[in-house]
Amino acid sequence: TPVIGVLALQGDVREHLVALAEADALARPVRRPEELAEIDGLVIPGGESTTMSKLAGVFGMLEPLRERIRAGLPVYGTCAGMIMLADKILDGREDQQTFGGVDMIVRRNAFGRQNESFEASVEVSGVEGGPVEGVFIRAPWVESVGGEVEVLARHDGHTVAVRQGNVLATSFHPELTGDHRVHALFVEMVRGA
Ligand code: GLN
Repeated sequence: TPVIGVLALQGDVREHLVALAEADALARPVRRPEELAEIDGLVIPGGESTTMSKLAGVFGMLEPLRERIRAGLPVYGTCAGMIMLADKILDGREDQQTFGGVDMIVRRNAFGRQNESFEASVEVSGVEGGPVEGVFIRAPWVESVGGEVEVLARHDGHTVAVRQGNVLATSFHPELTGDHRVHALFVEMVRGA
């Protein structure tokens, strides 16, 4: 059984721990660089990417996690987690840092004021059994991707799920629904890594 950490600096950590356990992983919160040695995969939760970026600096996680991701650690980011996995962001705070790992440009809060929070059916490539219920909360979208990035889902013409190698990211929050097929896809990626 793979051991999968949830980055527990800020955000909806508990919901991911539950979703991962239901997808047959051993899930545990991860806060310190030393704990990265004990996991086979990592989830970066939704929350607020500016705060997460700041705390990642305070906890000394930025460089150690960047290195682990470069070395192939499977990682899944939802919403703010997607922002943290972007090599480049738009509409970020001036000094906002990311871990990177996906050759993409992500725009924060992209769906805009009229649409701060909504749900939509999203067909995700690699997830069987019909569309998932996408929960979008001040969600980012992917503005553009490099050649190595696979687009897994779109909503209203905007890219909302991507994969590059062992890194998966969604604009929406499967952890807030009872449907854990996206987490199961990630657990399979960890098993295969
Ligand atoms: N808008 C938030 C950010 O920029 C993300 C929101 C979320 O994770 N639900 O980090």
